[in-house]
Amino acid sequence: MKPNEVDFDNLTFSFTETKSMYVAKCKQNSEWESGEIVPFGNLSLSPAATVLNYGQGLFEGMKAYRWENGKIAMFRPERNARRAAKSCNRLSMPEIPEELFLDAVKKVVRDNSDYIPSTTQGALYVRPIIFGSGEGVGVAPSTEYMFIVYVSPVGPYFKGKLKPIKLVVTNDYHRAPLKGTGGVKAIGNYVPGMLPSGLAKKDGYAEVIYLDAAEEKYIEEVGAANFFAVKGKNLITPELTGSILPGVTRESVIKLARDKMGMEVEERRISVEEALEADEVFCAGTAAIVAPIGSINYKGEDLTFCDGEIGEVTNELYNYLTGIQFGKSKDDFGWMTEI
Ligand SMILES: *Cc1c(COP(=O)(O)O)cnc(C)c1O
Repeated sequence: MKPNEVDFDNLTFSFTETKSMYVAKCKQNSEWESGEIVPFGNLSLSPAATVLNYGQGLFEGMKAYRWENGKIAMFRPERNARRAAKSCNRLSMPEIPEELFLDAVKKVVRDNSDYIPSTTQGALYVRPIIFGSGEGVGVAPSTEYMFIVYVSPVGPYFKGKLKPIKLVVTNDYHRAPLKGTGGVKAIGNYVPGMLPSGLAKKDGYAEVIYLDAAEEKYIEEVGAANFFAVKGKNLITPELTGSILPGVTRESVIKLARDKMGMEVEERRISVEEALEADEVFCAGTAAIVAPIGSINYKGEDLTFCDGEIGEVTNELYNYLTGIQFGKSKDDFGWMTEI
């Protein structure tokens, strides 16, 4: 799609094809070759590729913003680079060097800069993927890998700007067990969530809240966003036990709450019962940014927070974070990288 064909004022989180993408390759037990920018298009893969047969692959997700002063900037891309490297390791894929990852991301954003919406319209979602492209019929790491970065202009993740979302706790499905791959962005983690998420949406909920797989008592995550509860001056979020994805947004929200708002942040287990008694609850992630939770359904009952309005702390955190991301407030932590 040409940039002038994009309806920037009505973007959703669906995919819009852009001009180009980045492609790099790596043979097993060797170094990643530096890749190149090529026109966006289909790939050719062997049916025996390990990504198709065993789901050997991962993804990352980040955003590039177009500031009012015309500058283009990304939020903490080096954190995504580090997480991708860790995820590679867990999935038996050759680690992408941080410089290669960042260089690829910047090149694609620059080459597709005409597709970046203004901050009131949305952002350019940047999607790096790494996967086993070589053939392998036995269950073993691939002989060849691909690293691709593509982009898509997106609007707000949850429809209806900062309207609090309705969530439902699921007792029928788990996202990730301890010692599994929940802590990395493995592609295989996400398909199992499509069914519960789809069922929840049919019932009018935006997403499901997953509980821990061992005791089914403690809150883990909200679909693909991290969970937070506010109780007085305390901010509580599930600790990173290995089954929870270490979100860059999560890490940033914790820092803002501690250093800018003087809150006591507790990273620990939080039961559903405790969460239901919180003053405010919200979830955070690249796509959702900071999304207030208006109500949670648990065992058939909807419990409303802040009369279904945005809580004060949630609102303040949203403003702090988006202020930095949209280039409107001072970037005291050096989080933004100009492209
Ligand atoms: C990506 C993701 C998040 C959010 O991580 P960010 O780095 O903040 O975007 C949270 N939970 C899951 C399961 C995810 O996949």
